[in-house]
Amino acid sequence: MPDTTILASTPAEDLVATSLRQAQPCLWTNPARLAPPPVALSAMGRSISLDDTKAAAARLKRFEGLLAEVFTELAATGGVVESPLLPAAALQPALGLHADQGRLFIKADHSLPVAGSIKARGGMHEVLEFAEGLALQHGLVQPGGDYRALATPAAREVLGRYQVAVGSTGNLGMSIGVVASALGFKAAVHMSADAKEWKKERLRQRGVQVVEHAGDYERAVAAGRAQASGDPLCHFVDDEQSFSLLLGYSAAALHLQTQLAEQGIAVDAEHPLIVYLPCGVGGAPAGIAFGLRQLLGPHVHCFFAEPVQSPCFMVQMLAGQGGGDAHPSVYDWGLTNQTEADGLAVPRASLLAAELMAPLLSGVFTVADDTLFIHLVQVLDALGERIEPSAAAGFSGPGMLTGTEAGRTWLHSSGVGAVLAQATHLVWTTGGLLVPDVQYQGFVQRGRALLAEQA
Ligand SMILES: *Cc1c(COP(=O)(O)O)cnc(C)c1O
Repeated sequence: MPDTTILASTPAEDLVATSLRQAQPCLWTNPARLAPPPVALSAMGRSISLDDTKAAAARLKRFEGLLAEVFTELAATGGVVESPLLPAAALQPALGLHADQGRLFIKADHSLPVAGSIKARGGMHEVLEFAEGLALQHGLVQPGGDYRALATPAAREVLGRYQVAVGSTGNLGMSIGVVASALGFKAAVHMSADAKEWKKERLRQRGVQVVEHAGDYERAVAAGRAQASGDPLCHFVDDEQSFSLLLGYSAAALHLQTQLAEQGIAVDAEHPLIVYLPCGVGGAPAGIAFGLRQLLGPHVHCFFAEPVQSPCFMVQMLAGQGGGDAHPSVYDWGLTNQTEADGLAVPRASLLAAELMAPLLSGVFTVADDTLFIHLVQVLDALGERIEPSAAAGFSGPGMLTGTEAGRTWLHSSGVGAVLAQATHLVWTTGGLLVPDVQYQGFVQRGRALLAEQA
């Protein structure tokens, strides 16, 4: 019965705690956020800074030639895995975001090639880091050399002695499995039994071993970790505590900075940037928030979005406010971890992500599944973009800030409210490209039915 012992400390947090327990959408804002972020941040005994983000971006760059060769879909971009920054003013009326409350954009990671989700960033980076280490160790490439040498049969034979394994609700497995097998590695993905069948099928078709486990995401990760720990030739991608994954995600900030500049979007005291990031275990949004805060400083505000039944990051942040090393799960709060947003169905947050975010994050909000489907349809109708339910989680962010007591309090105290008309709202759409049409049409039908009920 840990829920009473981790009760929040302020009246505002008591309100959040009540809503959380009732699975009602709510917003928690972070009283511990530091406006100018520390230059280096330490988590789990290691210190990281913007240099680490730049190193991750440089690694991705070294592999571009090889990636363009092994993935036909990357030939056109020369091996660059990136997504557009899209103006989304056409969606503002549906969200109730008025023109004098800022401008809406989306960062379209739902269209990321190869993996079809934000997992392309972190997952690809970690597999490449593992491959790079082995390639140098076995003399398959020289430092500064041409990594396309790794596409030769001899190099693939060497990498094929090694295995890459991961535990996943689906999308991370797709990213790791597809990239690992493309480089010649053996690949194993541990999934919870309720992971989507089409994801398992897609992996099997690529020669990836899919291991199914009873129970939730956490159980699948634990089983994968245990199996891999006994095998020196196996690299386990640990979604709950991997720096390599997190730094791979963080590299997105460097590209976004260029995109913002290209579209003439300033980020400064008069022009705050508010970023809404769907959150599962927390690695992807924390990596991106870390990169953005280190790169763009005090006027970037990052909010994480979670399903009402799986708010693992919010319960972690509430527990962290009291200090200590609590690691609560959503079950402790009487919640089910049942959600159609399968990329976000995680019961307990990554402590690495939580530790890093404590001084950087602006807040966390929750969203009901029905709202995800409504926003999924509105995104289709207003923008013609195809996203999955998890990727819709960020769209209730602007309304949470402008339409709730907690949000208005934050707008006031942060100073963002005074310049809201010049703010940029950036919703990160994290997945969708690979969702089969039948599944997607089901999502749309459900969203349209909900909209009809509302009308
Ligand atoms: C994994 C995932 C996220 C969140 O990433 P975490 O690292 O688990 O927090 C968000 N959206 C989609 C579609 C995902 O697959």
